[in-house]
Amino acid sequence: MTDSMRIQAGALTKRYGQHAAVSSLDLSVEAGSILGLVGPNGAGKTTTLRCLAGIIPPTSGRIIIDGFDLSAQPLEAKRRLSFVPDTPHLFDYLTVEEHLRFAGRIYGIPDVAERSDALLSEFELDDRRNHLPGTLSRGMKQKVAICLGFLHRPTAIFLDEPLTGLDPLGIRRMKSAISRRAREDGASIIVSSHQLELIEEICDGILVIKKGVEVISGSLESIRSQLDGLPEDPTLEDIFFAVTGDEGDARTATP
Ligand code: ATP
Repeated sequence: MTDSMRIQAGALTKRYGQHAAVSSLDLSVEAGSILGLVGPNGAGKTTTLRCLAGIIPPTSGRIIIDGFDLSAQPLEAKRRLSFVPDTPHLFDYLTVEEHLRFAGRIYGIPDVAERSDALLSEFELDDRRNHLPGTLSRGMKQKVAICLGFLHRPTAIFLDEPLTGLDPLGIRRMKSAISRRAREDGASIIVSSHQLELIEEICDGILVIKKGVEVISGSLESIRSQLDGLPEDPTLEDIFFAVTGDEGDARTATP
């Protein structure tokens, strides 16, 4: 395991009873890089992210966040990471701004007001700062959750379906915001999504899993070169169906 890697997992395994949701998964993401985690429903993507973020304990395996072992040094590791789930969880009786101040206190951020203002402006939530979650749209709640996730400037970021509920402009801005955290702040990011165009557009590397195990990984270019029988100039969608063997299902599912 090397220093430039902000996220590293070795032989990560998570069992629920007899069922192995994730089996012996190895992954690493270097500073400034974005890894796309894709796979069919039930492949183990959310379980992987929840283990990497320290929300659930793995059954076995090692997780290192920015040089800190998640099980041996959980506080140091968790201080440096952020997990934004696919469903935003907000407090009913805190306004948008109060959420950010609260998170700022938890992480001991001295310039929380300045950082909050910058994030609210970046995500076009300025005029919602005094609103309660109940008065926000689904997409706005998603943006608030992402703001909370970025506030402490984590070096390891885990995003589960980050575009859910966003309008086209929100999607464009979210893609830029995610890329900026990697390119400008040097964060290592894992994005899990079924939106393969998103993964193709913003990720440097791709990890495809199915039934909890790696099917293929690498840059899109290297994956293309590893596979035979793909159409000319294959998209990630072509690769996904080729390696997960779900093409027939997908065709019949297409209206
Ligand atoms: P999706 O694309 O549908 O969100 P996913 O790739 O994120 O799926 P997971 O939610 O990680 O998949 O689930 C992986 C496997 O683990 C599935 O078989 C699921 O039923 C199982 N699983 C997930 N959470 C639990 C749990 N708390 N208890 C038992 N089994 C679980």
